[in-house]
Amino acid sequence: MSRVAITGGAGFLGSHLCERLLADGVEVVCVDNFVTGRPANVEHLLREPGFRLIEHDVTEALQVPGPLAAVLHFASPASPVDYYRLPIETLLVGSTGTQNALELAQAKGARFLLASTSEAYGDPKVHPQPETYWGNVNPVGPRSMYDEAKRYAEALTMAYRNARGVDTGIVRIFNTYGPRMRADDGRAIPTFIAQALRGEPITVAGDGSQTRSVCYVDDLIDGIVRLLWSWLPGPVNIGNPHELTILETARLVRELCGSGAPITFVPRPKDDPSVRQPDITLARRELGWEPRVAVTDGLARTIDWFRADLRELARAA
Ligand code: NAD
Ligand code: UDP
Repeated sequence: MSRVAITGGAGFLGSHLCERLLADGVEVVCVDNFVTGRPANVEHLLREPGFRLIEHDVTEALQVPGPLAAVLHFASPASPVDYYRLPIETLLVGSTGTQNALELAQAKGARFLLASTSEAYGDPKVHPQPETYWGNVNPVGPRSMYDEAKRYAEALTMAYRNARGVDTGIVRIFNTYGPRMRADDGRAIPTFIAQALRGEPITVAGDGSQTRSVCYVDDLIDGIVRLLWSWLPGPVNIGNPHELTILETARLVRELCGSGAPITFVPRPKDDPSVRQPDITLARRELGWEPRVAVTDGLARTIDWFRADLRELARAA
């Protein structure tokens, strides 16, 4: 049976990855310091014999006893609200944390998979974005702690591949949504759902004409698992090319929630990318992957989960 380590395994994406790999018969060691993740995300996995949870900050030396077939480095604050609040931590987990995870992979002879981001393209001047596009990133702007940390992490991953012979892969993840996002993480979809369900004004930034292309979590995880067990170095874009304006997204969420909440327009953050859509030609061709869940279905499933989660939070308060 193969065994993997997942840093950031108690986060939104990490917890879905843990679940999927366990279901595939893989043993999983989850390493997380809960800075933005929640123990509750993996609580139900603690009774699985193949699952182990280690509370640890991966910017400190990282050791995992026993063999590992792969190290998946997913630890990092990921929502703008989180990384604005944690700028140094974000840069450190992208730099020192990535190096520690690469060293672990090298020591174990394991494949290394880096969770990179569409933010590597910044505010793109090429649309949709193929992996060959180098991006348009402000190195000293308000999002730079995240964008540049990930770009450095990609460069470090390539250096370990070329100079140290580590088998590496890089996935550039585009906006993904689904159960276990935090209602307060500030990202558009969880924010809009929580506002719509509470009947509060839905806060659309700017005039809402900026676009994102949103992928349901199960589709994303399937693409990541295919890349994990492939030989591809990447970077490989994984995301759903279905592009919506943020105003369209807000209206769709409101409708699917059956909510009468008003839409209110709030100031747009500086350097907020205007458009984003993955070119997934490479993933289609090399991994035989493409997303399957329609945005209305994915949003409906996510809204159902949020209804229960918000009830739980209200009961606990
Ligand atoms: P998340 O915040 O839910 O998960 C990140 C996890 O990493 C959390 O559990 C957090 O506690 C943990 N973590 C952070 N710093 C750590 C440290 N120093 N040591 C140990 N654990 C640490 O975010 P997410 O949306 O699940 O994102 C997971 C990864 O995917 C991130 O690397 C993110 O950059 C990348 N990504 C996500 C998206 C998306 O749409 N969700 C898009 C692009 C890239
Ligand atoms: N956004 C918004 N209202 C919110 C939160 C976000 O209009 O309450 C906008 C944000 O300005 C951006 C888009 O939605 O244009 C996506 O933001 P998110 O934080 O979800 O993802 P990212 O900017 O990282 O792609």
